[in-house]
Amino acid sequence: MKTVLIYSGGLDSTVLLHHLASTGSVAEAVSVNYGQKHFKELEFAAENCRRLGVPHRVIDLSSLSDMFGDCALTSPKVEVPDGSYAPENMSATVVPNRNMILLSFAAARAIAKKCDAVAYAAHGGDHALYADCTPEFADAMAGAIRLADARKIELLRPFINMAKAQIVSLGAKLGVDFSLTWSCYKGGERHCGKCGTCSERRQAFIAAGVPDPTAYED
Ligand SMILES: [Zn+2]
Repeated sequence: MKTVLIYSGGLDSTVLLHHLASTGSVAEAVSVNYGQKHFKELEFAAENCRRLGVPHRVIDLSSLSDMFGDCALTSPKVEVPDGSYAPENMSATVVPNRNMILLSFAAARAIAKKCDAVAYAAHGGDHALYADCTPEFADAMAGAIRLADARKIELLRPFINMAKAQIVSLGAKLGVDFSLTWSCYKGGERHCGKCGTCSERRQAFIAAGVPDPTAYED
């Protein structure tokens, strides 16, 4: 099955890149610059693709960033909140309808490249706060993507029933170099260690019993 992967350069999608590359099924990895402060994740994406010999395409949608309003991931006026994923402090990290945008572009590439599927690293730990990460949303998008081309492209979510710690365990088995993945929404010199996504990254390594190579600020 020839697959287009939505690839951010984060931990989950890097494990999925290795997983798909190990079966030789990834035709192209697609990363999107949507004006995220942590655009340095794209450098990690490029490096992992280079090492695995996977064709990598970066779609530049950075001019969209001011369309997302008061989103902490894109607006210079809004700080990325620290702490765990409690709705009251993390709602600022919602990028409006991000997954529909990403899936739409990846589906276009799958049609253009005559691929059979689009894959992304949605997982069991995704938060209800992100409406476009829910199974209901993904099912609806899967239906729309199937209808977008006569080839009936499939939407694959192989990690949908896995916790982040299980993804770390799988990555360790696949030989993923986790130091070449980026999670922190602040996009500083190093991972801050305090924002929601840094907290989850840390906890996932601990729960998996896998050494965490990340250099955190704190
Ligand atoms: Zn952080």
